[in-house]
Amino acid sequence: MPSRVVDHHQLPWRFDNSFGRLPEALFTRIRPVPVRSPRVVLLNHALARDLGLDLTALPDEDAAGLFSGNLPPEGGDPLAQAYGGHQFGHFSILGDGRAIVLGEHITPGGERVDIQWKGSGPTPYSRGGDGRAALGPMLREYLISEAMHALGIPTTRSLAVVTTGEAVYRPEALAGAVLTRVAASHLRVGTFEYAATRAPWCLTALVDHAVRRHYPALTDAKCPALSFLRAVFDRQADLIVDWMRVGFIHGVMNTDNMTISGQTIDYGPCAFMDAYDPATVFSSIDHHGRYAFQNQMACAQWNLARFAETLLPLLTPDQQDEARDAVIAFQHDIQRRWHVMMGKKLGLFGHHPGDVALVDDLLTWMHLNEADYTNTFRQLMSEDLPGLGEWTPRWRARLSRQAEPIEAALDRMRQANPAYIPRNHVVEAALSAADDGNLTPFHELLEALSSPYHRRDGLESYERPAPPSDEPYRTFCGT
Ligand code: AMP
Ligand code: MG
Repeated sequence: MPSRVVDHHQLPWRFDNSFGRLPEALFTRIRPVPVRSPRVVLLNHALARDLGLDLTALPDEDAAGLFSGNLPPEGGDPLAQAYGGHQFGHFSILGDGRAIVLGEHITPGGERVDIQWKGSGPTPYSRGGDGRAALGPMLREYLISEAMHALGIPTTRSLAVVTTGEAVYRPEALAGAVLTRVAASHLRVGTFEYAATRAPWCLTALVDHAVRRHYPALTDAKCPALSFLRAVFDRQADLIVDWMRVGFIHGVMNTDNMTISGQTIDYGPCAFMDAYDPATVFSSIDHHGRYAFQNQMACAQWNLARFAETLLPLLTPDQQDEARDAVIAFQHDIQRRWHVMMGKKLGLFGHHPGDVALVDDLLTWMHLNEADYTNTFRQLMSEDLPGLGEWTPRWRARLSRQAEPIEAALDRMRQANPAYIPRNHVVEAALSAADDGNLTPFHELLEALSSPYHRRDGLESYERPAPPSDEPYRTFCGT
């Protein structure tokens, strides 16, 4: 047995900081701005164990120092990354304005992950912002990212939240906090858009790095850049469809918030849909419904078209045509995946004529009846069927025509349809209690969401949709 860690110098980090070996135009080396009196609010011990870091015996003071940025670990290479991004359709040069990657850690399983402080002070990319974060939004990111992980959806993770002992002004004074985020990497579509504005060798080096890091099997491909493009399309198509399976709306699908790894990143104004409505929007700044629930597939295509454009200089004219065709094909491809996913939610195996109409008719009924998206699919698995009229016998007939027994169909449905999602009113209540110093509702919610497909007695309150309200639910970014 290795001896228990009793001070942060003894944590068995295994750093290998490959991003810092890329052209210097892509980042700025920088240290976090020390904070006055850091205190631990949350430590994710399960995630720490997966990273090979046992934090259980680490004194609070050391953990607070480490996860606030006051005590950077040895062997890291803290840097803020440069990137660009199309935000609501308009391109800007951005970059880590309030985040610092402290290093790349290799887990005992051999995985390479970025460890990042978020809210750790201004950087050259802050554009007038304070570089800080407030406690509420960091707790929200922790909760929702961990819920997404438990739902089986690729996502960045949350390792720790600490308060800084300093106020942030939004514009009222709020408790400042730092979130420690763990990601397969922080490479985004926007990183490539930024590199494309720099020297060509900068872009080449970045593509090479990304392929080796996320798609190593493609290093020997005939044209790695084109294969890379297709591989990112593939992961993003799966990701967006997975979001839609659980009613997740990202809210800011700007190109700087779309990863190359296929993980969900940046939990700003995101939220989960209650009543099914394809036009649902939660973000307070999304006035035109650009990132509405059903638009997410088209937005992904738009973002990936920007990604393809950045890679054009690396492709021959024929390969450029192939890249263009891949962008066009994305629309049909993601629609097909959406229908396969919806089929799973209904326990369907294979594809029969009439499946598309079966799915579409159910969704139309749900929309007209303002049926809860999550609960309707759960109810289909029970005897507690909603009043779906002629739809139910059609669905039952379809199930009886497939070779698989009904038990197999139910299993398929159980795996696709969560009982518990982070419902907006429940999340707000937990955050509001946390703001008053009571973390119990937050921990209870986190616990319920850690096993979202397994219904348990006593957790009924997490299944209930929000009580009717005159005000639509709104979420905010830049918090
Ligand atoms: P987001 O909306 O979180 O994706 O952020 C968009 C951009 O704004 C990124 O470049 C962030 O680093 C930057 N940003 C967000 N909040 C702040 C802040 N408080 N201070 C400095 N930069 C920020
Ligand atoms: Mg962002």
